[in-house]
Amino acid sequence: MASTIGEVTSTMSGLKVTSEAAANAQQSSSNAGSAKPEVRKWSLSDFDIGKPLGSGKFGKVYLAREKKSHFIVALKVLYKSQLSKAGVEHQLRREIEIQAHLRHPNILRLYGYFYDQTRIYLILEFAAKGELYKELQKSQRFDEKRAAKYIKSLAHALNYCHIKHVIHRDIKPENLLLDLKGDLKIADFGWSVHAPNSRRKTLCGTLDYLPPEMVEGKEHDSKVDVWSLGVLMYEFLTGSPPFEHPTPSETYKKIAQIDIKWPAYVTEDARDLISKFLVKDPKGRIHLNDVEHHPWIIRNTAE
Ligand code: AMP
Repeated sequence: MASTIGEVTSTMSGLKVTSEAAANAQQSSSNAGSAKPEVRKWSLSDFDIGKPLGSGKFGKVYLAREKKSHFIVALKVLYKSQLSKAGVEHQLRREIEIQAHLRHPNILRLYGYFYDQTRIYLILEFAAKGELYKELQKSQRFDEKRAAKYIKSLAHALNYCHIKHVIHRDIKPENLLLDLKGDLKIADFGWSVHAPNSRRKTLCGTLDYLPPEMVEGKEHDSKVDVWSLGVLMYEFLTGSPPFEHPTPSETYKKIAQIDIKWPAYVTEDARDLISKFLVKDPKGRIHLNDVEHHPWIIRNTAE
């Protein structure tokens, strides 16, 4: 059914957030005789809009159904005025370009986008069970089986991103959604970058999940995502990230020193895997390919 939702292809590069640029993009995509593939143009009238699913910084997300196919999606509505006020048009364009081209069972699909005078609409895969963050709050902490399932999926999805030269850079529970079956979906590519051979220096992401090389303002590469997997695994098993502290300077210090306190219930093999993610030298961190072969993952994901 998903095939009825038009694939976003080369017109992605035509997306502009300002109305003037939007008009240009419209014009360029309607060039007669162009060799570009046909791309389905969507508008609000193609969808029945349902209940709100949540609110974000720049707008709201609604449950929606494509009228012809009855295909259910999540429609994210973003206000151009708010995007340009915050100066994040470039970030959004990058997010769309990246997410639209990724195809992995644990990465939320972006089927397409459209816009009107004031808003931009993203047509997203619907994640029926919502935010992982809320699940973690509800259960305080996850048991080993549940944590291992998520870590295995994340390692697989991030490895796929890295092969495509995409670094996520902002892996945290708030950016992870769950579908109807309870499978994890990486949802937010707002901070991700295409990194063809390049190493980056921007400080971004959320403090608790930042690796030492980013805290120290050094260059970083795809190994930043491996570090954040260690932070996440600790948080899944204990309920809070390992370097959490009310004072940011203390969090920085704890990250730089890899100062981890282990509750007694964290098993030896779980500690071993977390310690293989949280290695100061990015080159010393476990390869994402090896995660599924680690004894803790094998022990907790066997049928
Ligand atoms: P965001 O603007 O991406 O932070 O989204 C705001 C809220 O809407 C999130 O916290 C989720 O609860 C919900 N949401 C966003 N995207 C989806 C989706 N694809 N499926 C279901 N719920 C979503």
